[in-house]
Amino acid sequence: MLTGGGADADRFHEECGVFGIYGHPDAAALTALGLHALQHRGQEAAGIVAYDGEQFSAHRGPGLVSDNFSSKDVIQRLGGSAAIGHVRYATTGEVALRNIQPLFADFEFGGLAICHNGNLTNNYQLRRQLVRRGSLFQSTSDTEVIVHLIATSLKDTVVDRMTDALRQVEGAYSLVALSQEAVIGVRDPLGVRPLVLGKLADAWIVTSETCALDIIGGEFVRDVEPGEIVIIGPGGVRSVKPFTKVPERLCVFEYIYFARPDSVLEGRSVYEARKRIGRELAREAPVDADIVVPVPDSGVPAALGYAAEAGLPFELGIIRNHYVGRTFIEPTDQIRNLGVRLKHNANRADLEGKRVILVDDSIVRGTTSTKIVEMVRNAGAREVHMRISSPPTNFPCFYGIATPSREQLLAARFDLEQMTKYIGVDSLAFISIEGLYRAMGEEGRSAGRPQFCDACFTGDYPIRLADADEGKVSVQLSLLAETA
Ligand code: SF4
Repeated sequence: MLTGGGADADRFHEECGVFGIYGHPDAAALTALGLHALQHRGQEAAGIVAYDGEQFSAHRGPGLVSDNFSSKDVIQRLGGSAAIGHVRYATTGEVALRNIQPLFADFEFGGLAICHNGNLTNNYQLRRQLVRRGSLFQSTSDTEVIVHLIATSLKDTVVDRMTDALRQVEGAYSLVALSQEAVIGVRDPLGVRPLVLGKLADAWIVTSETCALDIIGGEFVRDVEPGEIVIIGPGGVRSVKPFTKVPERLCVFEYIYFARPDSVLEGRSVYEARKRIGRELAREAPVDADIVVPVPDSGVPAALGYAAEAGLPFELGIIRNHYVGRTFIEPTDQIRNLGVRLKHNANRADLEGKRVILVDDSIVRGTTSTKIVEMVRNAGAREVHMRISSPPTNFPCFYGIATPSREQLLAARFDLEQMTKYIGVDSLAFISIEGLYRAMGEEGRSAGRPQFCDACFTGDYPIRLADADEGKVSVQLSLLAETA
């Protein structure tokens, strides 16, 4: 999958990654390292808040983790043995500084920093009620809705106030907070977004993915359960499950693309899951060809699985340039169209005269796939067959993944034949939804009680879309003006 630069618009994007650590003298430095490992979950902004027993300190900024946390001075200023951090992908063109997390507020009970990965589906409705009752919002982030709900709660303890607040929100979230006493991690009742618990010597960690534990030499303890609140304080880890239990629905797209392949989610290796999807795809959609070529990097594990199952050579027919910055200026359409070659180049020596199976993880708008196919053909490929390791993305996501509107999704606009023509391939096939579930180790998709969230493929949204039903999904940025 292509990421960065001008190719970004043609991808689904994870919107955030979270990390929190309690009980380590180098809390801020370890948080920065953890955020490095989560960089794929958000590249537009990063922030850390630390607490040293007396005061909170914060550093946030636009850009990559390395743009914000490579100076010793910055890390030293974030003193204390507890810290939380966040990486964020901006859903608008501009990153508003006031939206960069973690957010921090002074409450009656003291300070609290808070950040989350996900999206509240009744954000607009709650915000409107809060504003009517006198809450003054400073950002357009839905995290701030949670902050105001905590502020207006009449419960006594931080955890009770958070529980009270979260009972009112609908949506998908994995949340990490830092109070004067504890680091708190919460996963929404359906567990749509991932969150894991880890340990490093005597310190405890909550974070989006296990790769953030690996980078600091930490050990994986367990997944935070859907609907669970873990409170990490001086007495160790305490767990409460105050929400009504509902069937779990982890985002299946985490396995297909979002999570890092070296992470393990809910007991499944992401890398192995991707290879199994590739194998299943080869069984479902075989084709006579000479080589299997991944669209790097994220198409690689599925292509390996496909090649192994098909008994065909796996070749790196497209080479990715890893050193392209993200701030490429695109002055004209002509230059912008060259963007895809900035990141990827066809490996002519491998492609010339060959019948090629290209494996990618998804097709969103189809513009990037079209360019890749053209590049492979120009390099002399005799035939190009495309195999996609996800079902067609037919519906937008409202649970924390940035997606274009439904009208812009290729699979919503065209049938398979039209898509084949549009992309310019000799054949095109997607893994079926049943095949995807089989690759995940299930017998198939249980229609009455699906095991994962798969709404962007099926339209079966497991959490009510209160704001969307009011036509209020994309108005967050103008809401301040509306309600001022
Ligand atoms: S709609 Fe798709 S991307 Fe969004 S949470 Fe569900 S499976 Fe994941």
